[in-house]
Amino acid sequence: MIPYGRQNITADDIRAVVDVLESDYLTQGPNVPKFEQAVAESVQADFAVAANSATSALHIACMALGVGKGDIVWTSPITFVASANCALYCGADVDFVDIDLETANMSIAALEKKLIEAKATNQLPKAVIPVHFSGQSCDMQAMAKLAREYGFAIIEDASHAIGAHYNQRPVGCCEFSDIAIFSFHPVKIITSAEGGMATTNSPDLASKMSQLRSHGITRDADLLTRGHDEAWYYEQHGLGHNYRMTELQGALGLSQMSQLAENIIRRNEIRKKYESAFSTREAVNHLTVNNNLTSSCHLFVIQVAAEQRLALYNHLRSHDIIANVHYIPVYHQPYYQNMNKKFDVCPNAETYYSQAISIPLFPQLTDAEQEFVVAKIDEFFEGKT
Ligand SMILES: *Cc1c(COP(=O)(O)O)cnc(C)c1O
Repeated sequence: MIPYGRQNITADDIRAVVDVLESDYLTQGPNVPKFEQAVAESVQADFAVAANSATSALHIACMALGVGKGDIVWTSPITFVASANCALYCGADVDFVDIDLETANMSIAALEKKLIEAKATNQLPKAVIPVHFSGQSCDMQAMAKLAREYGFAIIEDASHAIGAHYNQRPVGCCEFSDIAIFSFHPVKIITSAEGGMATTNSPDLASKMSQLRSHGITRDADLLTRGHDEAWYYEQHGLGHNYRMTELQGALGLSQMSQLAENIIRRNEIRKKYESAFSTREAVNHLTVNNNLTSSCHLFVIQVAAEQRLALYNHLRSHDIIANVHYIPVYHQPYYQNMNKKFDVCPNAETYYSQAISIPLFPQLTDAEQEFVVAKIDEFFEGKT
């Protein structure tokens, strides 16, 4: 079976996790802070706050920015539901900005148009959550300009994009955003089994997020409101959650950081091989990676005629190639459809979704396996199914 994505666990990773099991701390020990520091350094951000998932990290990011009832948050419809759910957890309303067909990233033109309309009706968003689809950064410089003009915060959903670069700097450096979020779910670039992280350059947001991931509690002497002599003393300042990452996850994530650079190179190699294989195949299109940046290549999405997509998916499956579709537009979900609010249809998201299919891309995919995938796609379009 060839899945669309798969983790790569090394002997060093296994040893790192076993070492934790034999140590004094299964949680709240030294590994999570080390993993946070490694990510902060790697992405050139001042602070990194680990959580038990990217979903949790998105939630505390929204909370730290003060997103609440009566606020509006915008994201892309072509994403995992978590990018939108995080705002709903805070009691805010969600709306969706259409994508560009070339990249499946949030369209700056669509965003600007929607902002102009929202300003006229006094419905401007408190925060916008762009998603770096498949590991390619959105146009953050243009988005930050709009953020200044219209006064919204930016949380980058960089779940796909650790190791990616934009404008000569790592995604997550937050040059053009308030907070960036990474996921370490096993299908993502590197993994901590479950796990996520928020990076920021704001000491205030970092401090808020680290309290919110642990019940709203602090032991930081500078933040305590009452004088005390007791070493056990702590204070709860807000209503947080238990979103802490375990030491097992921290050790695994830290160990996985050592394969990040090589992993991105290999993923791009596989992407380029697919691109050249499909360059002469008219029935198969694919998303475009901009030459001015480095994608982390989380996914390779091909686009075929909508009428052929399901048959191609089933054809691949019959040969044990487990493709996938990323993503069903979030507002299609029954939960969203059943809300009081009616969502505008995003035409590009609809077109994209009807044609997209993600084919296998992960560092351990062998050349022979990749050639097999291409051959089976060729076979489908030559009618030799
Ligand atoms: C995977 C993913 C998430 C959620 O990540 P978890 O770590 O599984 O919570 C959020 N947004 C996007 C775009 C993702 O791909």
